[in-house]
Amino acid sequence: MIDEKEIGKFFEKLLENSKHFIKSEFKLELTHSDYKLISDLDWNKLCNEKNWCKNKEGKYNIEENPHMAYVRIEKDFFISTLFHELFGHGLYAEYSKVHGINKDEKKENYSNLGVFTFNEIEKVTNKPEDSFDKWQFMNNEGFACWVESILCEKNNYINLWLCKARLLKIQYEQFFKCYERFKEVEVNEGKAGVMKKLGFPGF
Ligand SMILES: [Zn+2]
Repeated sequence: MIDEKEIGKFFEKLLENSKHFIKSEFKLELTHSDYKLISDLDWNKLCNEKNWCKNKEGKYNIEENPHMAYVRIEKDFFISTLFHELFGHGLYAEYSKVHGINKDEKKENYSNLGVFTFNEIEKVTNKPEDSFDKWQFMNNEGFACWVESILCEKNNYINLWLCKARLLKIQYEQFFKCYERFKEVEVNEGKAGVMKKLGFPGF
């Protein structure tokens, strides 16, 4: 039988370590995000209710107050996914200037922002009207995967991330490419370089 109290304690510890790292490395704290570990049965119910795609390991829902990171606990990579949904999408939604930009704002306000810049995305999208959403998506997912990999490493789950990354490369090539690009920027310009490009406060 699953001892829910033990699992709760285990996650609290993981989250404490992660919060501590985020605070010391980036001087940031999540203030508006929480998480729920969810069974496959409840996930299916939730997806039916909200019209979400079932074929995912989790979701960060900004429509709830506080924002809610749902993570499917019966999946092999749930620890990695928790880092992705809660800290990756959470920090991005709460602090990144890229996330905060409204579609109607003047393009000049954000044309140079992003690890993937808007100009770059615009060049490769077939439909110009979709390029703003694509720009948001690639920066958001790239950042979430990048944070996920860092927190796996800091919490001694690097092998878990490496297994997941191998699968991403095969099944979700676009996500993997986003991650690789973020990693490249980190190698050349440091973690602060990534944060600066996404307009995080203090960078
Ligand atoms: Zn994601």
